[in-house]
Amino acid sequence: MTTSNNQKLLDELKASIITDKVCPELAKEATQLVFGDGSPSSRIVFVGEAPGKKEDETGLPFVGASGKLLNELLSKIGMLREDIYITNIVKYRPPENRDPSKEEKTAFLPYLKKQIDIIRPKIVITLGRHSMDCFLSKRKISEVHGQPEVVDGITYLPLYHPAAALYNGSMRQTLIDDFLKIPELI
Ligand code: URA
Repeated sequence: MTTSNNQKLLDELKASIITDKVCPELAKEATQLVFGDGSPSSRIVFVGEAPGKKEDETGLPFVGASGKLLNELLSKIGMLREDIYITNIVKYRPPENRDPSKEEKTAFLPYLKKQIDIIRPKIVITLGRHSMDCFLSKRKISEVHGQPEVVDGITYLPLYHPAAALYNGSMRQTLIDDFLKIPELI
């Protein structure tokens, strides 16, 4: 019941991004909206930055190289993609994979917050500093990564972005160590 009702609410929210014409310049350049994927009633929501090339092509978040690493990390804690819900702050691919602008993040934030309100997870895992900034501002990711913080009943766990760990062995190990804290938080 909750799952199908949540899915309906998420589908409506997705449609509203299009009818509200959020970030029309980004929408024009992108192939499609990449809204989110996974269990609509999951206890864990992961929030990344913005879709890349593969995500833009498929309409699904984290299906490229970062997504492959994320899947490996999930398997280390005995979880599958269908056990979690995953989305991004900005839901259209920025051209050339540039960082999303402040205006773009601000424009999408109310939709991200509604998405999380619908799912009502116990824990929100932010991937990278852009995502962390949406919920835990004025922190440095190098100082607070892996440290959970509870705000209004939701536990936020800021992690490094998997893309940063792809070609950096020590960051990869840090990300693994931080990931291993997830089970005790749920
Ligand atoms: N990086 C992100 O932040 N999100 C994606 O969906 C893919 C790569």
